[in-house]
Amino acid sequence: MRLVFILIGPPGSGKGTQADMLCEKFGFVSYSTGAIFRNEMARGTAIGQRITPLMDKGLFVPDDIVMEAVIGRIQKTRRNVILDGFPRTLVQAKLLERFFQLAPGRFLPVAIEIGLPMREVYRRVSGRMSCDKCGKVYHVKFRPPRLTQRCDKCRRPLKFRSDATRAVVKTRIKVYQKETWPIVKFFRQRPIFKFFSVKGAQSIAAVSASIIKIVKKIT
Ligand code: ADP
Ligand code: AMP
Repeated sequence: MRLVFILIGPPGSGKGTQADMLCEKFGFVSYSTGAIFRNEMARGTAIGQRITPLMDKGLFVPDDIVMEAVIGRIQKTRRNVILDGFPRTLVQAKLLERFFQLAPGRFLPVAIEIGLPMREVYRRVSGRMSCDKCGKVYHVKFRPPRLTQRCDKCRRPLKFRSDATRAVVKTRIKVYQKETWPIVKFFRQRPIFKFFSVKGAQSIAAVSASIIKIVKKIT
């Protein structure tokens, strides 16, 4: 049975950071819908052009595009999977549940909520920098690179994300509360999902330790 870990939490709660840690430590494969869509935009594909005005404002990509991007990837790999940033709407969560129901005995879905007070979100996302080449994520204060604004691994200049302005972050928080927050309750209630919650407002290492404990309990 393949494990599918679903990381859910507000922007900046540490989903990507912890997904990377799990990949390194346990050899899981991680799919970040945000990264998939940023890549579509950077390449200027048809999908990229359609979603750019939405992503730039901090609004969600339409559910049909998101489902198409994720389900095929889960089906193609044989490895244990981490979903970083998916599902984010109740429609996506229900379609994902349906997908698991149609393949009984093949997947064990484990939802892990990383909680973070909304007042912390801006501090996290406004200081976030990442490497274009390897995708490694840093923070000016909480996870600084060894050399100022250069990736530890690739030595390339680090970039800030364009959706980290105050106005866009405000929208992203509102959209999270309206669209994504109800999924936490959904996961808690639906028997097909194992559900865990960790406190995101602690050091990166402490959050990692809590998540590793959950993974070891499951495996
Ligand atoms: P998400 O994927 O949930 O949006 P990220 O993993 O990209 O969040 O983290 C957002 C920013 O906060 C990054 O700059 C990251 O280095 C930093 N960060 C992640 N987890 C923590 C933590 N527990 N404490 C402090 N900073 C963190
Ligand atoms: P992230 O990298 O997870 O912060 O996501 C960045 C942006 O990508 C979001 O603000 C959305 O516009 C879009 N996005 C990522 N995942 C989803 C999803 N599951 N559903 C809708 N939009 C998404």
